[in-house]
Amino acid sequence: MAAAGRTGRAVRSFIAAAARTTLDLLLPPHCLTCDAPVDAPGRFCPDCFRQAGFITEPCCARCGVPFSHVGQGGRDQLCPACTAHKPPWDRARGALRYDVQSRRIVLPFKHGDRTEYATALAPLMARAGAALLREAEVIVPVPLHRSRLIARRYNQAALLAWALARLSGVPAVPDALQRTRATMSLSDLGAAARAEVVKNVFAIRPGRVGRIAGRRVLLVDDVMTSGATCGACTRVLLQAGASSVDVLVAARVPDPRLQ
Ligand SMILES: [Zn+2]
Ligand SMILES: [Zn+2]
Repeated sequence: MAAAGRTGRAVRSFIAAAARTTLDLLLPPHCLTCDAPVDAPGRFCPDCFRQAGFITEPCCARCGVPFSHVGQGGRDQLCPACTAHKPPWDRARGALRYDVQSRRIVLPFKHGDRTEYATALAPLMARAGAALLREAEVIVPVPLHRSRLIARRYNQAALLAWALARLSGVPAVPDALQRTRATMSLSDLGAAARAEVVKNVFAIRPGRVGRIAGRRVLLVDDVMTSGATCGACTRVLLQAGASSVDVLVAARVPDPRLQ
């Protein structure tokens, strides 16, 4: 029964996606976050572009959280969270602040089958993480647990990793990491509780160590909040012999203490 339900859902969502593709071909492309017409799919209209919360310098040198003014992070350019607990990765960068506007892209991308948003988000990420991509030797997405992958049918982080690989020429290894058990939603938890939940949840997939060992890895995810998930994945990649790990995300939740 569950399988039949899943098949039904898959068929309905395939039809919806096909209908959307047909409509997209018939109608002029519209802005990523409003209904205004634009030149090409995957673009912001001029108004939304002005309002978009692109993350630029100054930001935390370590985790990429946006600062409100130059000098906010002191001499080391570190945010309070990174000063208190140094994350295991070298550098993390995000393309957009996670705010009302970017949620209009990220939420349908994550939960609403709008897989085509990966090709819109990847160029923004490639710009924010240009220095990271230049040095990366392999791109690895944060994995979903198998049960969630079956329900959603795609891993949004893997779609971003593929799109970034196409843009940069850096190879992606979408199955390098696996989630060994499903976890509850982290959305209502604080940083310490998040770190506890994701501890020992990730592992290198057998047979993929050779793609990671000795390489500079760029870990990719859709949204970074406390960094607990990316931190747990980074530790696993470093244990597998990665020579370094940087992190690139589509959207970064700002630290309210810095705004
Ligand atoms: Zn717009
Ligand atoms: Zn930081």
